This record gives sequence, structure tokens and C-alpha cells, in this order.
Amino acid sequence: MSQGDLDPKDWDTFRAQAHRLLDASLDKMQTADEGRVWNPVPDTLREAFNREIPKAGYDTESLLTQIMPYGVGNTHPRFFGWVHGAGAPSGVLAEIIAASMNVNTGGRDHIGPVVERQVIRWCTDIMGFGESASGLVVSGTSIATIIALKVARDQALEGVAKAGIANSHLIGYTSAQAHSCVKRAFDILGIGSAQLRVIPCNHDFEMDLSTLQQQINTDRADGLQPFCVVGTAGAVNVGAIDDLEGIADIAAAEHLWFHIDGAFGATARLSKYAKDRLTGIARADSLAFDFHKWLQVNYSAGCVLFKDEQAHRQSFSDRAEYLNSKSRGLAGGDFWAVDYGPELSRGFHALKIWAHVAEHGTDALGASIDRNIELARYLAKRVDAEPKLESLAPVPLNINCFRYRADTTDMNALNEEIVFELQETGVAVPSTTLLHGELAIRVNITNHRTQESDMDLLVDAVIRIGDRLSA
Ligand SMILES: *Cc1c(COP(=O)(O)O)cnc(C)c1O
Repeated sequence: MSQGDLDPKDWDTFRAQAHRLLDASLDKMQTADEGRVWNPVPDTLREAFNREIPKAGYDTESLLTQIMPYGVGNTHPRFFGWVHGAGAPSGVLAEIIAASMNVNTGGRDHIGPVVERQVIRWCTDIMGFGESASGLVVSGTSIATIIALKVARDQALEGVAKAGIANSHLIGYTSAQAHSCVKRAFDILGIGSAQLRVIPCNHDFEMDLSTLQQQINTDRADGLQPFCVVGTAGAVNVGAIDDLEGIADIAAAEHLWFHIDGAFGATARLSKYAKDRLTGIARADSLAFDFHKWLQVNYSAGCVLFKDEQAHRQSFSDRAEYLNSKSRGLAGGDFWAVDYGPELSRGFHALKIWAHVAEHGTDALGASIDRNIELARYLAKRVDAEPKLESLAPVPLNINCFRYRADTTDMNALNEEIVFELQETGVAVPSTTLLHGELAIRVNITNHRTQESDMDLLVDAVIRIGDRLSA
């Protein structure tokens, strides 16, 4: 029996505690559709996490169970804020296994890289990236974007990894609806966010490709070096999908690296409603997307894919001698994650992704995305049918932006107050966004637990609160 300093003094007691906590976790998941969506953290609980670091340990079971109602609320079917996945019980079991193995998947020859490569191969299949593609499991699209754009930068400027970016004239392009992580990546990579041209959108919130082409021409004429274009498959505001085939054509003609932010939208390649608009993903040089959004893997889990394994590897494979791989033994193995990304030590995130995809299969995962798109269309119909509600944007995918109409000079303040009340009463959690200066109640549906009745409840609550506030 293992008797390390930090192992349980009494394994039977520990085992009983583990079973109690597993039951508490299962109860939480089994009743995910009950009660309030968001619960503000009580002051007593905040205080419990504002203590001095303990010299002597104490029992944590009570606090571990007390915190459970005070998450973001995204496991609940009426969580519609921003873009959050709802998670699934399957991931919990894989996380228990991964934690007990305590695997470091930075490199070496063990089951970790074997599972990760399986996950990556499935992803390259789904995304149409082909046999020779390369990829890495990461924590989310933000870091995936940094990794992808570093490879793009390195391919554009010979020796940049060593010499730095000084005196270069790199210019990138993305749309006004692109996620802020693209701009941040330009900053972090030293290219500078001012070198990212923000191309305006058409009224479907998609990048305007004639402006893109003109801007590239202007920049070339000015002696600058256009090097990459970032398209979006599922933009956060309204779910817009750029004309990815059109961008691919321009990128090919202009010899630009084509990166796609497909954080949640790329996985809709599994959906019968969306797949025809996502064919251009297969033409990208790199793709960033998340498992923790529309695929419902528990946080956090994302992915970056590359067409060209060589290019990907070149940007990160600079191992020191103490990390050299060997032809035999544990220091062998032909896939070391450290050669493909900035992290050395990293957990076994691929296991929960593998378990989730293997357990459900792509048919069920795609059907779940289809149902969300159907719900967004259902909500759009209800909004159109209610004289007191007004749609503020098209509904191309799974996001609805609308507002309550009233005879008031400050419609934005009124709708913001409606959203505050929905959240604070625990009824539902939409978020808000500004579209052409108008504040929209924004309902994102990346939630396999949401039903039509949840949409009805939301619409009724918006009208009820709106009527009262504007009376
Ligand atoms: C969520 C999101 C991101 C950021 O992804 P993280 O996984 O949160 O880092 C980027 N782009 C889009 C379109 C998103 O929805």
C-alpha cells in the first residue's frame, strides 16, 4: 500500500470520501436543468477563499461540495451567454483517469502521445486537412491562434525566430467581426496589432472581399509585406461565416497564409445545415478551434491544425540536449508535443476529448449541433411573431440578436436592464452586444441541453420584464 508523505493516511476513509464526491458530481450533472442558471457567490463563500495559506492542512470536502452551485452556469439549458459549451458527464470519468495517471504529455514514449495523435487524426479528418496534416491539443482557440500565427510569421520572414521582427513590414488581414484573440496574437508575436488590417463587413457581417483585395493592393504598392489573412468560421457577435472559399482564392493568388478562427463554427462541419458553408476550411493553412464549445467537451480543450507538418514543426522544434529523444526507452517516441507548441509540461487533455468523441460518435455530435441551429431558427420565428420584439441581425447559425421595443429614448439602457434582470433572477443568461450602436439581447445556443420550452420561457420573460420596465 502506497504510503508516500502526501498519500492518504487511511485509504478506506479516502475511498469513501472519493465515492461521496463522485456522487455529488453525478447529482450536479443529473440535475443540470434544475434551479437557477447563475448563482452569485455568497460573501461567506468568498471569505472562505480569502484565508492565509495554512501551515497545517484541513479537511476540504465540505468546501469542495459547497462551491458546486457557483460556477458560470453554462451546464444549465438556459445559459445563452457569449459562446460556452455545456459539457458532458463522459468527460468527468476520463478526467478522473487522467488525474490518477498524472501523465505529462510534453514528450517521450507513453500512452499520452498515442491518444493525442488519435484525436488529431480524427480532427484532420473532420476538417478535411488530409493525411499529412499536423496538429496539437491546446487549452483553447486563443493559444491556438498564437501558435498558428507564429508559424505563419516564421514562414513569411526567414530567420525571424532568431533575428526578431525589427525592420520587417508584415501586414495581416481580418474582418471587423474577428475575435479579439487575433489582434492579441499580433501583439504577443511582436508583429504589432496596428499591422493587422481590419476589413469591414457586408450586412451579413462577413468580410468584404473586394475591400480585402484593394487593401492588399494598396499595402503592396506602399512597399509593405502582406503575409496572412484570418477568416472566421462562426463569429462571436452573430455567428457569421466569412466567404472562406473566396478568401482561399485571394490567399492563393496573393501567396498569403490562410488561417481560420473556427472556435465554435468549425465543428459545424458535422452539421447538415452548416457543412456546405464550411467547405473552405479544408483550404486553410491553419485552423484554430475548440472542443469545449460546440462539441461539448468539458473545459478546457482546443486544437490547432496545420496542413504542413514541416512548417509547424520548424517553428517549435529547438529542443535542448537534456530533452533529446533517443531511439529506445522512455526518451524515444516520434511525437513530442514540445516540438509543436510552446509548452513543455502539460496534462493529458487529449484523453477526455478522445473519450467524449469515442463515446458519442460524430453522428450524435453533429445531430446535437443541428438541434441547436433548429432552436436558433425557432427563436427567430418567435421574435418575428412578437410585435414587441425586433430582430437586429440575421441568424446564419446559432446566435440570435434581438431587442425589446418600447417608446423610450434609451432602448439600449432598457434592453441592458432586461438582461441584468434575467441573469439576476436566475431565469436565463443571455449576454449583450452592440450592433451598429444598438444594444442587442444576444442568445447563443451551443448547449445540448436546451429545449424549445427554454426558448419559450426566455421570450416570455423578456416580454414580461420589458413590459414592466417600460410601463
Ligand atoms: C471563444 C472564441 C475564441 C477564443 O477561444 P478560447 O477557447 O476562449 O480561447 C476565439 N474566436 C471565437 C470566434 C470564439 O468564439
